[in-house]
Amino acid sequence: MSRSPSLPDRPRREIDPDLPDDERLEALRDHLETILEVNDQLTEQLETADTRRQSLREDVDRVERENKTLKDSSLYIATVEDLVENEVVVKQHGNNQEVLTETPPQLADAIEAGDRVAVNDSFGIQTILEGETDARAQAMEIQAKPDVTYADIGGLEDQLREVREAVEQPLLEPEMFERVGIDPPSGVLLYGPPGTGKTMLAKAVANQTDATFIKMAGSELVRKFIGEGSRLVRDLFKLAREREPAIIFIDEIDAIASRRTESKTSGDAEVQRTMMQLLSEMDGFDARGNIRIIAATNRFDMLDSAILRPGRFDRLIEVPEPDYEGRMKILEIHTRGMTVGADVDFDALAEITEGYSGAELESLSTEAGMFAIRDDRTEVVMADFEAAIEKIEDDDTTDVIATAQYHYN
Ligand code: ATP
Repeated sequence: MSRSPSLPDRPRREIDPDLPDDERLEALRDHLETILEVNDQLTEQLETADTRRQSLREDVDRVERENKTLKDSSLYIATVEDLVENEVVVKQHGNNQEVLTETPPQLADAIEAGDRVAVNDSFGIQTILEGETDARAQAMEIQAKPDVTYADIGGLEDQLREVREAVEQPLLEPEMFERVGIDPPSGVLLYGPPGTGKTMLAKAVANQTDATFIKMAGSELVRKFIGEGSRLVRDLFKLAREREPAIIFIDEIDAIASRRTESKTSGDAEVQRTMMQLLSEMDGFDARGNIRIIAATNRFDMLDSAILRPGRFDRLIEVPEPDYEGRMKILEIHTRGMTVGADVDFDALAEITEGYSGAELESLSTEAGMFAIRDDRTEVVMADFEAAIEKIEDDDTTDVIATAQYHYN
C-alpha cells in the first residue's frame, strides 16, 4: 500500500498594513498565485487518490467474485505432474485426464510437482491443498512388532536361512560385517507364486529383530495414489528412519518396477517416477544401517533389471510352492489350535494337496473346521478335510486363478 502523499505547506502571508497601496497589491497578488499553485497540487493529489481508490475497489470486487466462485462451485482435485515455465501439467483424479494449464501468478512460487491442487471447470488452479495427512496410514501397514514367528512358517528352511543371513544378521550383529569388511546385501527380493509365505518371512524376521514392520503395496501405490507414488516412497523411507530399526516390505514390487514398455502413456510416466524415487532412496542408503528392505513379487519375469543391480535388490530368494514336506508342516501349523480326530492322515493330505500354496492349505484347514461346525462337532475328522478339498477344488478362488496365471506366465 502506498502512503498518502504529504500535503503542501499551507501558504501564509503577513502583509504589513503600513505598506503603500501598490506594494500591498503586489504582495496580495503573489499570495494569490501561491494559493492557486497549492490548489493545483491538491487537485492533482485528489485525482491520484481517486484513481487509487478506483483500482482498490476493482481489486476488492475481483477478490469478492473469486471468493464467491470458490464458495459456490465445486472444484476438482488434481495432482501437479510437471512444471514447464509458466505452465503446469495437472492430472485430474478420477478420470486421470491430463491438461496443460497456466500457473496462477499468485501460486507460482509455491507450486511444486506432486502437489495436490483444486481446479475449476476450466482447470484453472484455485488453491494448493494440504497433503493427504492420512495418505501414509492408508498406503502403509505399520506394525511395531508383528506377531508372526519363524515357528509359524512351514517348509522354506533354505529361504528362512537366507533371509536371516541377509536381514536379521545385519540388524543384530552389524559388527560382524564391519569386522569382515563387507556390506550386507542392500535389499532382498522374494519371488514366487502367491500365498507361499513371502509376507510371513518378512514379518517373522521383523518380529525376531524387534524391528518395526512397514509394508507398502506397489499395486496400491499405482492404483489409489495417482500422482503421489514418489512422494509416498519418500515418506516410506522417512518413516523407516524415524522408527529404526525397521523392515520395509514392498509387496507387489512389479507394479512399480516393471520393465519399461513401449507405450508412453501418462500412467507409465507416473510409475517410472515412483520407481526412480525408490531407486534413488536405495542408492542413498547405508547398507550397514538399521533399516532393511525386503520386496516381493509374483512376477519376477516382469521386473526391470535396474532394480536388480548391485546395491539395490541384490539378494534374490525364490519362495516356491511347498513340496510334500512343506505341505505337511504347513498343515500341522494351521491345525495346531484345532482338535484333530485320530483318523486324520496328514501324509495322505499332503500327498493329495500337491500344487496348493500355503495360503490354500490354511483355508483348507479353516474349511475343514467349518464342516465340523456345520455337523455340530468340535473335533475335525478326515471326512471334513476331504469335503474341504472338494469345495476348494470346485471354487474358482482368486488364489487358484492367480496361481494358474503365475504358472502361465
Ligand atoms: P502374496 O504373493 O499373495 O502376497 P505371500 O507369499 O506374501 O502372498 P503370505 O501373505 O505370506 O503369502 O501368506 C498368506 C497366508 O498363507 C499366511 O497368512 C499364512 O497363513 C499362509 N501361509 C503361506 N505360506 C505359508 C507357510 N510356508 N507356512 C505357513 N503358513 C503359510
